[in-house]
Amino acid sequence: MSENQPAVTQATLVKKAAPKSDYKPADVSPQRRVQRSYAIRLWSIRHSRLLEWFYARFADTFLLLHPLWKGIGYGRVEAPVKFIEKRAKGFMFDCRMCGQCILSSTGMSCPMNCPKQLRNGPCGGVRANGNCEVEPDMPCVWVKAWEGSRNMVNGDAILNVQKPVDQSLRETSAWLRVTAQAAMAREAAKTPGASA
Ligand code: SF4
Repeated sequence: MSENQPAVTQATLVKKAAPKSDYKPADVSPQRRVQRSYAIRLWSIRHSRLLEWFYARFADTFLLLHPLWKGIGYGRVEAPVKFIEKRAKGFMFDCRMCGQCILSSTGMSCPMNCPKQLRNGPCGGVRANGNCEVEPDMPCVWVKAWEGSRNMVNGDAILNVQKPVDQSLRETSAWLRVTAQAAMAREAAKTPGASA
């Protein structure tokens, strides 16, 4: 192949092999998908240990601020926190705001980017090159999750079985939910028998 020739991508090969049909979905094509870049997402996975350390401090700080969130009202702070969370995690992880974040258990690879939204490991369709069967030029989020988890201190959390996605939590703040739950657990620990 000459240097000036464009590289043949997986997506192009898949399109050529697909059966011909008069129906061509307008907004879903391998060509559109191939234009996506996964550079930042992959950077986050490569630096999963650093992000694990950072997130632990971040979560502690958020928990320290629990009296503030409670004083203002969790409901009132939700919109601005969600605004920041959506943009920060969208940039770093291509977050889909499922509201029940498991990045710490998946090597900092967001499982909601799996086209099948699998939360407990890959399907049987991972390509030989480690890419997704639905998005041929996208590295399988679960292959990457395993790689990312191997760098992390608590990387074996990837072996935990995750609950199915609760769609009613979509577009809510995982940061606030985790903080409120941690605060409640802390209160319960201080008052033995309170949860009985
Ligand atoms: S697991 Fe959910 S909250 Fe976490 S990055 Fe993925 S979509 Fe966002």
